[in-house]
Amino acid sequence: MAKRQKKKLADYISNRINLNSLESSRPVLQYILEHGQVSLSDAAKALDLSRGTCNLHLQRLEHEQLIRRHESVSTGAGRPTVIWGVDTSSNMTVSLVFDVPFLHASLTDFSMTPVLRETHDLSNLGSRDRLLEIVHDFLERAVSQVKRRDGSIRQAAAFLPGLLDPGRGSVINAVNFPLLNGIDFNELGMSIIGTPCRTVPLGLAFYFGESEHLPADSNNMVVYWDLGVGVVFGHGNQLCALGSSAVDGAPALTEVGHLRIRKNGKSCHCGNRGCLEAYVGGWAIIDDLKKKSLRGLNDLIQFVLRGDPPALKRAREAAETMGQTLAHAVQIMQVDRILVSGPMAPVFAIVAADFNRGLATILTESEIAKLNPQASPVLEERFLRGAHRLAIRLFSHPDDYRLLLKTPTALGRTS
Ligand SMILES: [Zn+2]
Repeated sequence: MAKRQKKKLADYISNRINLNSLESSRPVLQYILEHGQVSLSDAAKALDLSRGTCNLHLQRLEHEQLIRRHESVSTGAGRPTVIWGVDTSSNMTVSLVFDVPFLHASLTDFSMTPVLRETHDLSNLGSRDRLLEIVHDFLERAVSQVKRRDGSIRQAAAFLPGLLDPGRGSVINAVNFPLLNGIDFNELGMSIIGTPCRTVPLGLAFYFGESEHLPADSNNMVVYWDLGVGVVFGHGNQLCALGSSAVDGAPALTEVGHLRIRKNGKSCHCGNRGCLEAYVGGWAIIDDLKKKSLRGLNDLIQFVLRGDPPALKRAREAAETMGQTLAHAVQIMQVDRILVSGPMAPVFAIVAADFNRGLATILTESEIAKLNPQASPVLEERFLRGAHRLAIRLFSHPDDYRLLLKTPTALGRTS
């Protein structure tokens, strides 16, 4: 009895419900988002809350239209048990995926059903004002859809190429699409939909698109290969930090594509020299193959797929360099699986043996076999879904965004 009372007091102290903030109810929301349909007893037991406290959280979340009563299960005697679940149709996320030259803009509910989806071709756009107009108009249409459904936009996220300043919500240097530079997405989101629009590296849409198909209990490395190269580490839906912030020591995602692999090496678009990307990114390969008059990434991909000898040779070198560099990260992060995604994934499928040879300069054959590096199919549906899965994750686990806030100080110099 004494023990029970002691627990109740601790429970009370650590879980006082502040009705002005969602924070205290967040663990209950996270549990429901993760487990689907749950009863009061399930949630209370799993979160070590008293039934009374847990019930207050549930009612609070219901009041906010985040969860709803799904059904009542009668167990025979006594009152039927209420089963709670996320209110998937009232809650929505907005994602703006700048898969340049395309913008995929969508409003999607928590069951992943698109409510509004548009694709805009941004080639020959001309001006930043025109780009802002497109984003602005989409967000306004999204707001009117949400109003019509009496729902809420819980999170907005813009997935962008290049270097970001997620702290300010702006793009520092979108090397492949300069019109994005300086756009303040947080402010755009606040002014039109009433919630900040978080800026996120494009590769994360691919990570969350892939993680749905990877074992929930494995450490994954998802490489996003396009004009540049990005690397994301995660465990299921959870992003894993690689490095820590120079500002406050908090865990951070390091821009692996801009790790220096050669001192005083090739100039990189980020302003530094010798970055991994300057050797293996699509733009670097295209630069080296100038004589082929490649017009862009698609041309490069076609050349390699056709077996053009210089293009294939250069792609093989890039894959080997990538494998050799990432072998270190595999050990540091104790990676179980490697997937390569993005537009260059079909190229990877051809040069995977070279990537493995790069890994093999450091890792054993059996380690490489276990990692089983593979190209992921390029499916638009998959990364758009990934974008919304991440947006929901940022809503339920806002601290995850802290991971994205910091890039290495060296990159800060380019701003
Ligand atoms: Zn760089």
